[in-house]
Amino acid sequence: MGFADLHIHSTYSWDGTATLSAILKYVVEKTDLDVIAITDHDEVIGALRAEQIAHHYGIEVITGSEVSTAEGHLLALYIREKIPVGMSLIDTVRYVGKLGGLCIAAHPMAAGSPSLSDEAIRNALKYPDVAKVLVGIEAINGGLFHQGSNFLATALAESLPVASVANSDSHILQTIGFGKTEFEGKTAFDLRRALEARQTRPICTRHATPWLVIPSWLEFFLLKKFGWVRWNPHPLQPMRLGRAKMVI
Ligand SMILES: [Zn+2]
Ligand SMILES: [Zn+2]
Repeated sequence: MGFADLHIHSTYSWDGTATLSAILKYVVEKTDLDVIAITDHDEVIGALRAEQIAHHYGIEVITGSEVSTAEGHLLALYIREKIPVGMSLIDTVRYVGKLGGLCIAAHPMAAGSPSLSDEAIRNALKYPDVAKVLVGIEAINGGLFHQGSNFLATALAESLPVASVANSDSHILQTIGFGKTEFEGKTAFDLRRALEARQTRPICTRHATPWLVIPSWLEFFLLKKFGWVRWNPHPLQPMRLGRAKMVI
């Protein structure tokens, strides 16, 4: 079996604090993940760059984005271009489908960020072409402010013909893998097959706490503002702080 964390933000998100190189190094050294997705807010450039350098680290990256639909956040995976912001959920899913991608409802019904309602998801899944692309729901989202609604999301996922997924929604390095999805196989292709077959298992390994998340996020958010973030100059070298503009 393989493990995937399909919701990770990098410095290509306004609120992400980890560079791509630091994320890849951390995943290889500190987690048991086989596949990750980089899903920056309404952006795909970071994911494409991560995919380019991933082989140096020995990890597979799915290119994705967390899209701000008019009805809430939606993960678009296996895409290679930016998805327009502000479309309805159904139009966004159809757009992603035309690009050959898959969608997962991010932190449904969560407070704190724009989140899809159960009505919006149930309504969208009535359309067979939409249901083919909107294959999963985050039953578990590891985000500090989203964890309170995981019991609602789990119940929703179990009541629908969708894949149940767990992701970390990491904006810092240390929470990557706190939510992970088990699937048969090891590769991004195997994962796609498992999502389409609705055969995935959500796992919560640890809960993010304010004491862990807020100090680290604040520290690196401020460092990012000054152009300094944690990065890794070479897969075999340790991570360090450096000029963000020079590295990915
Ligand atoms: Zn979100
Ligand atoms: Zn997110």
